[in-house]
Amino acid sequence: MSITSATASELLAKMNSGEISSEEITSACLDEISRRDGSINAFLSVQQEAALEKAREVDRKRKAGKPLGKLAGLPVALKDNICSEGVTTTCASKMLEHFVPPYDAHIVEQLKAADAVLIGKTNLDEFAMGSSTENSAFKTTTNPWNTAYAAGGSSGGSAAAVSAGFAPLALGSDTGGSIRQPASFCGVVGLKPTYGRVSRYGLVAFASSLDQIGPFARDVTDAALILGTIAGKDRRDTTSLDAAVPEYTSTLEQPLKNLKVGYIELLHEEGLHAEVKEATLRALDVYKSLGAEMVPITLPHAKYCVATYYIIAPSEASSNLARYDGVHYGYRAPHFENMIDMYAASRGEAFGDEVKRRIMLGTYALSSGYYDAYYLKALKVRRLIRNDFEQAFQSVDIIATPVTPTPAFTIGELVDDPLAMYLADIFTTSANLSGIPGISIPAGMSKNNLPIGLQLLAPPLEEERLLRAARMFERETDWHLKRPV
Ligand code: GLN
Repeated sequence: MSITSATASELLAKMNSGEISSEEITSACLDEISRRDGSINAFLSVQQEAALEKAREVDRKRKAGKPLGKLAGLPVALKDNICSEGVTTTCASKMLEHFVPPYDAHIVEQLKAADAVLIGKTNLDEFAMGSSTENSAFKTTTNPWNTAYAAGGSSGGSAAAVSAGFAPLALGSDTGGSIRQPASFCGVVGLKPTYGRVSRYGLVAFASSLDQIGPFARDVTDAALILGTIAGKDRRDTTSLDAAVPEYTSTLEQPLKNLKVGYIELLHEEGLHAEVKEATLRALDVYKSLGAEMVPITLPHAKYCVATYYIIAPSEASSNLARYDGVHYGYRAPHFENMIDMYAASRGEAFGDEVKRRIMLGTYALSSGYYDAYYLKALKVRRLIRNDFEQAFQSVDIIATPVTPTPAFTIGELVDDPLAMYLADIFTTSANLSGIPGISIPAGMSKNNLPIGLQLLAPPLEEERLLRAARMFERETDWHLKRPV
């Protein structure tokens, strides 16, 4: 396997045996970026010099036999809504086009401590609002499998970077599916941890009760490796959980005994693309052949997920984004009459249409007179959705579903139809609303040669179970070995 298509674990082994250096790996990734990112548009910025410098430092340390971190010498791409000290963090918004954070996000500190090589910041839908990166103020990321198609979103740049061979690992954020959906579209592994498993300190907030940072990787082992380095309690995020972080990679090869896989009857519903349905059923057969028991489950409130999510997420967004007022930091309109006018002009000029739409939806849902009817009601339904999962996990260990109703759509296909775009979040939003972990793993290819993912869900803090179940599937299949040509 070439450097740019190898997994992180393969590259680590080669570095440890002295076969290859981090500088060679980093240079190969940078070359691939300069050769092909002009058509993929995964990156908003590339930290070429800093990356090479870090790679050489790791090589020196390795040669000298000094202790090294778990990701020593591996290039990692970061979604551009994760703050990195001294490096522009734009959220793909004109509002933060020139914003240089004076501090690192918690996970960036963790990556640095693990000796990772931070290679660049990746494209996203503005403030992570969207499913295709078409809402980025700067560029649209294309799908490495076919550039006429969307890479997905909002973490489309991170998914495309791992798929295209630009970096073996990347991080993204998932508020309603933004890691799992682009992972599925680009044929890579994407994991949304339990809410609170990974600190949100330094992640630019979209919807704080739903946001969670997680990894993209070329296989399950790599996802386990990087999750282990970023998970854990951080006192600067009061919602981060004080629970021990298991050594995910050490148990990965142990298959789960007496595994009970829950599946939903939704599979027989309309709106689901035939090839996605087929891939999901085939995946269930793989588990069956491994001796797992298939248990039909019902999630009676799942049909309300999209409606609930699109009340709660915009409500929190409207509050979180109030800070961009043209005063503290970010864009300020050049011409205005008075203070109120300055706020309006700055926000009006620097936010894109989708962000404005969310702010208006959220402000409306939270306004007095509508608060009870929309926001409060959505919170109650959210509880019912969570209860559904608690109930289901009484009788199953994991739940398997599609990630998205269709394989990747073409660029431009849905962008003018926000409602259709929202409805496609039907399978992913439930995990955020209920706080549980979810993973997307490659599980098929469409006739058009586009990847199809399988989603697995587990109870809170059961990432270890999720990863082991995903690895069981991966060992039996070769979807994760396919690379775009
Ligand atoms: N597609 C969803 C939205 O537009 C999810 C985005 C996300 O997870 N950041 O809100």
